[in-house]
Amino acid sequence: MSERINTKVLIVGGGPGGYVAGIRCGQLGLETVLVEAERLGGTCLNVGCIPSKAIIHVAGEFETMAHAAKAPLNGISLSAAPKIDFAETVKWKDGVVKRLNTGVAGLLKRAKVRVVEGWAVFSDAKTCTVKTKDGEVTIAAEHVILANGSVPVELPFLPFGGKVISSTGALALPVLPKRLAVVGAGYIGLELGIAFRKLGVEVTVVEALDRILPLYDAQLVAPVAKWLEKNGVALHLGAKAKGLGKDGLAAELKDGSTVDIAADNILVTVGRKPATEGWGLENMAVDMDGRFVKVDDQCRTAMKNVWAVGDLVGEPMLEHKAATQGEMVAEIIAGHKRRFDPMTIAAVCFTEPEIVSAGMSPHEAEGEDVITAVFPFMANGRALSMDGGDNGGFVRILARKSDHRVLGIQAVGAHVSELSNEFSLALEMGAVLEDIAGTIHVHPTLGEAFHESALRALGHAIHI
Ligand SMILES: Cc1cc2nc3c(=O)[nH]c(=O)nc-3n(C[C@H](O)[C@H](O)[C@H](O)COP(=O)(O)OP(=O)(O)OC[C@H]3O[C@@H](n4cnc5c(N)ncnc54)[C@H](O)[C@@H]3O)c2cc1C
Repeated sequence: MSERINTKVLIVGGGPGGYVAGIRCGQLGLETVLVEAERLGGTCLNVGCIPSKAIIHVAGEFETMAHAAKAPLNGISLSAAPKIDFAETVKWKDGVVKRLNTGVAGLLKRAKVRVVEGWAVFSDAKTCTVKTKDGEVTIAAEHVILANGSVPVELPFLPFGGKVISSTGALALPVLPKRLAVVGAGYIGLELGIAFRKLGVEVTVVEALDRILPLYDAQLVAPVAKWLEKNGVALHLGAKAKGLGKDGLAAELKDGSTVDIAADNILVTVGRKPATEGWGLENMAVDMDGRFVKVDDQCRTAMKNVWAVGDLVGEPMLEHKAATQGEMVAEIIAGHKRRFDPMTIAAVCFTEPEIVSAGMSPHEAEGEDVITAVFPFMANGRALSMDGGDNGGFVRILARKSDHRVLGIQAVGAHVSELSNEFSLALEMGAVLEDIAGTIHVHPTLGEAFHESALRALGHAIHI
């Protein structure tokens, strides 16, 4: 049976960009239809942020238990080494994802957004057709929000399949590999590589650049590099993956020699690309900005009343950017005056230890007259009480010398992801060092290290 729907707003993609836009459209009384081919929640909820953090959490618990089984850990000992049934871990992770999927479906329903399941293909900028299990649905809309997201980049000489997996495959492995080769030392590769190492897997990382985590500066990355070394992760920098080897991954090392890295699985995490193919983007007369859909600061495309948000429109490809843009577009369609002009979009890397960066790095501030101050977590009571004071972690603050305006805040250390929102708030509110120094921070918390970094920048840190 075929059906035709005419609606005010059509959203394609049920990831954080699309579903947040949908909920907000509904709240604002806009008649809205959302099309999703797979599962609500998109990459983030199903195969990205949430499942990866679930596996990272389990890996951390396992590692702690494994330590306690080897030698007493702060008074705790285990008489036997822990065992892991990875299929059960994946089942638990799937349960977490399912709860959140159901939650998103419920929120959309409450907002009176109609969800159509299937792959949308556009014949022109305002009309798409979806093949659903109940027949073909044609949807025509006054406004279209494109939130199609992104997909993993595949290496032509290492196509996904068999032992070669993407992050999606790594999060759903039926059993733990004994040996894992990771191609790409960006945040996804290292977050997962470190988690698998904690689960006892032998991990080898192959990275073409001369450094890991190129988005972050060397000072921030040093504690992660130390962890990799201390925990026996083999790291080949300046090395190129070449294809499948006899027993794993064939790679060319920096010195030109070739090696065959033994691996049961090869995890390729060399980046993600916007999902621009296979749904009729070429029929919509929108402009492109390189491989991304081009938008202005209101997420307008070149075609009137066609909007685009999230991973489809460029870096940073992060959940909180997608969701913020989705919410904004809904409000603009409803007549609100909005613009996407954040002071910062903080980025977090859930490695060991974690890294947060918000605003300018010292490198980006070159040429400005700035004060930089670092406060180490080894002088923070909460970090020490959580066994997180000795990993080289710190908070770093950067402020303009002339007026003390804070320009950038970074941290590396256990659990520092939880500080990211305080950093963003300070930057968004245009805080000066005195604002942070004058805010009483709760004791004992990691946030005190942020307070102390501001005091130190002002020349009078207390605890160092
Ligand atoms: C392993 C991993 C870990 C990550 N960790 C983090 C993290 O910790 N923090 C963070 O901020 N970000 C993280 N990300 C990135 C984050 O997942 C994305 O930035 C975010 O999901 C982008 O949201 P989006 O709405 O733009 O697109 P997506 O979430 O990709 O959603 C797009 C949706 O559109 C659907 N779709 C596409 N085309 C069509 C069509 N033609 N018809 C119907 N449906 C269609 C797709 O099925 C998909 O569900 C991670 C990503 C990965 C892969």
